[in-house]
Amino acid sequence: MDTKTNIENICEGVVARNAGEPEFHQAVREVVGSLAPVLEKHPEFVEAKIVERLCEPDRQIMFRVPWQDDEGEVHVNRGFRIEFSNALGPYKGGLRFHSSVYLGIVKFLGFEQVFKNSIMDLGIGGGKGGSDFNPKGRSDTEVMRFCQSFMTELYRHIGENTDVPAGDAGVGPREIGYMFGQYKRITNKYETGTFTGKEVNWGGSPVRFEATGYGCAYFMQEVLGTLDDSFEDKTCLVSGSGNVAIYAIEKIQEEFGGKVVACSDSGGVVYDENGLDLETLKHIKLEEGSRISEYADTHEHARYEDGGNIWEIPCDVALPCATQNELEEDDAEKLIKNGCTAVGEGANMPCTPEAVHAFVDAGVSYAPGKAANAGGVAVSALEMQQNAGRQSWSFEYTDDQLKEIMKNIHERCREAAEEYGTPGNYLNGANIAGFTKVAHALIAQGLT
Ligand code: NDP
Repeated sequence: MDTKTNIENICEGVVARNAGEPEFHQAVREVVGSLAPVLEKHPEFVEAKIVERLCEPDRQIMFRVPWQDDEGEVHVNRGFRIEFSNALGPYKGGLRFHSSVYLGIVKFLGFEQVFKNSIMDLGIGGGKGGSDFNPKGRSDTEVMRFCQSFMTELYRHIGENTDVPAGDAGVGPREIGYMFGQYKRITNKYETGTFTGKEVNWGGSPVRFEATGYGCAYFMQEVLGTLDDSFEDKTCLVSGSGNVAIYAIEKIQEEFGGKVVACSDSGGVVYDENGLDLETLKHIKLEEGSRISEYADTHEHARYEDGGNIWEIPCDVALPCATQNELEEDDAEKLIKNGCTAVGEGANMPCTPEAVHAFVDAGVSYAPGKAANAGGVAVSALEMQQNAGRQSWSFEYTDDQLKEIMKNIHERCREAAEEYGTPGNYLNGANIAGFTKVAHALIAQGLT
């Protein structure tokens, strides 16, 4: 069978075996679509059915999470943990709490995580989890009761050498604290290395909170560097206004001299032609937990557009940092027409496949999330190192390590793209670099 037919058959098989999970199908097609030259060079990967094995998680855990709200009403949510591959180390990946979470989302995120962690080269496997519980608008005690119930089931599957969860959208240090507390209580073990994303004063790492946004900015600074360019004086768009977005904005503006003129949330877009005022943004989002629509109340020249589309604003660099499939083909065409030259995914799979093709065809430097947003898991790996050695590093030292890791990821992607005949194509570079490392490990470890 020729390679193209083999790849198409694999994708069709994944769709048939995982019905109703379009995000997972999309993630598989995106990775497998880059692999033809690798499979041609390595017939042993085809013979050992490495791609088929990687498309099937090691283990899929799904469970009931009953909890009671402050009024005494009982709720039943669904919990997930997908242990995708431990070929390179313990399963590692975040937990997402959001009403949109279902099996297909967790599988797409877990699949992506395998390759992201592989490119990073810090000895960790890939997994992901979460629940359709929405913490927004819930009291602290409700969130605590939910986290305790969630962990009462999940605790038996995790451990510092088995599976190490972290945060993702809807899961921050507060939720990690509640889950760790319940884990400790049930197991009678103070295993800080079982979770990352903890608060710094009890085993967390400095820079973890900032890591994904900072890392994305570091990665894109490398990308721009290969074009003899940088963020200096560039006009940028950053979608979202959560954890990833805020720290990407901070790094671009405060270290690299770029100007971020707009960010967004699921309600609308705020545009400030002078560059967003980070203090205001942090105050609104991190201190008040409020909406970006408030930004325009204190900055009269700024504009908030309810339901607006951020990608219509002209820019040099665009960083989608909100959610999956937020940037579609039309948006990509608008960005290209307006002169955007680089796109870096701070979120996981924020660009649809059609948008990605439009960028690649137009020669826009497109950096996929599995490379550009690896900063979060990179600092999680550094947190595991600190926990194992009972150490606490400084903010500056950890940030330097993060910068170095992002540079190395960029280099591995760049080299793989070049080696397999598509120089400058970070999509292929990331997929190939991530896949080949896991593939060699799977061959070495026998039929598992
Ligand atoms: P947060 O929950 O902190 O923030 C998400 C932000 O995106 C919010 O401002 C949210 O607005 C906004 N948003 C959601 N949907 C849309 C939409 N359709 N249009 C515009 N804005 C939207 O999440 P994070 O910042 O932590 O994560 C964002 C993405 O980055 C996710 O894809 C996540 O998987 C990925 N990621 C996160 C990592 C991390 O360390 N946190 C690590 C690697 C990847 P609203 O408040 O209105 O919902």
